[in-house]
Amino acid sequence: MVAQYIGRFSPSPTGALHAGSLVAALASWLDARAHGGQWLVRIEDVDRPRCVAGMDRVILQQLAACGLHPDEPPVWQSQRTGLYQQALDQLVVQGLAYPCACSRKDIETALSRLGQTRARHGELVYPGTCRTGLHGRFGRAWRLRTDLFKQNRPPAPVEYTQDATNFIVNNVVHWTDRRLGAQQQDVPAQVGDFVLKRFDGCFTYQLAVVVDDAAQGITDVVRGEDLADNTARQILLQQCLGLPTPRYLHTPLVLGANGEKLSKQNGAQALDTTEPLAALNQAARVLGLPACSGSVAGALEAWVEAWGA
Ligand code: GLU
Repeated sequence: MVAQYIGRFSPSPTGALHAGSLVAALASWLDARAHGGQWLVRIEDVDRPRCVAGMDRVILQQLAACGLHPDEPPVWQSQRTGLYQQALDQLVVQGLAYPCACSRKDIETALSRLGQTRARHGELVYPGTCRTGLHGRFGRAWRLRTDLFKQNRPPAPVEYTQDATNFIVNNVVHWTDRRLGAQQQDVPAQVGDFVLKRFDGCFTYQLAVVVDDAAQGITDVVRGEDLADNTARQILLQQCLGLPTPRYLHTPLVLGANGEKLSKQNGAQALDTTEPLAALNQAARVLGLPACSGSVAGALEAWVEAWGA
């Protein structure tokens, strides 16, 4: 058992929980309980245009129906923009964040001029056009300089992890996932200078999640495997801001009939919590846990035991 453990579940209120999000919720709850730790809920409503009014309450009700109760009152990212601005200001002072005037079209043009059509998951790899200044144009967004963090030594390991498997060498972030094992990503080459604050004034998921995980003392991030690809960016940002790196565990995804991961975007059905034990059993199966009958509380207790620490 670790000395201190704080975990979290951080849903975006863009829709109700579905079978896939319950897997992440249950896994993060079980991991916290199995470690004798705390489990927090954070509503990630930082991307205002994508949020659906009232979904935060729906999600909290769904969690409660499944017996997953946070140890502290939930927090809403929309109420924490001051913290995100402070972090951005710090990066600007350090010369690690810069304003960007480029539209998507500008980025496409610059990339084709360079003979590059680099895109990952539909996102263009920013070619760094505004690194040298705005040249009279109007700054629309703020980006991180991903190529300036050159650290050839492992960062001080966070006390509780007892390992130093997360480190950055020549901007390549190396990290170890508790399920997926050793991972690495060359952030400047594979992602590029990513956005911290958007042209519409919204702070991005990457900045908000890093600031909040640190502010809430999160020691362990347990979330769906679809988010694993963000981890290197988040570790880089933590290091730029001098924040600790939590341990990461990415859970298996639930695939729909078409073989694609279930997501709110591809119309996954809202979780039916009129039968919470059935919903929990389905999530438990994805996590390799045995089926349980009886009460929700009894099943959760059995799964904590089976999860182990
Ligand atoms: N808000 C994200 C989502 O709902 C999860 C972010 C995270 O756990 O880091 O997909």
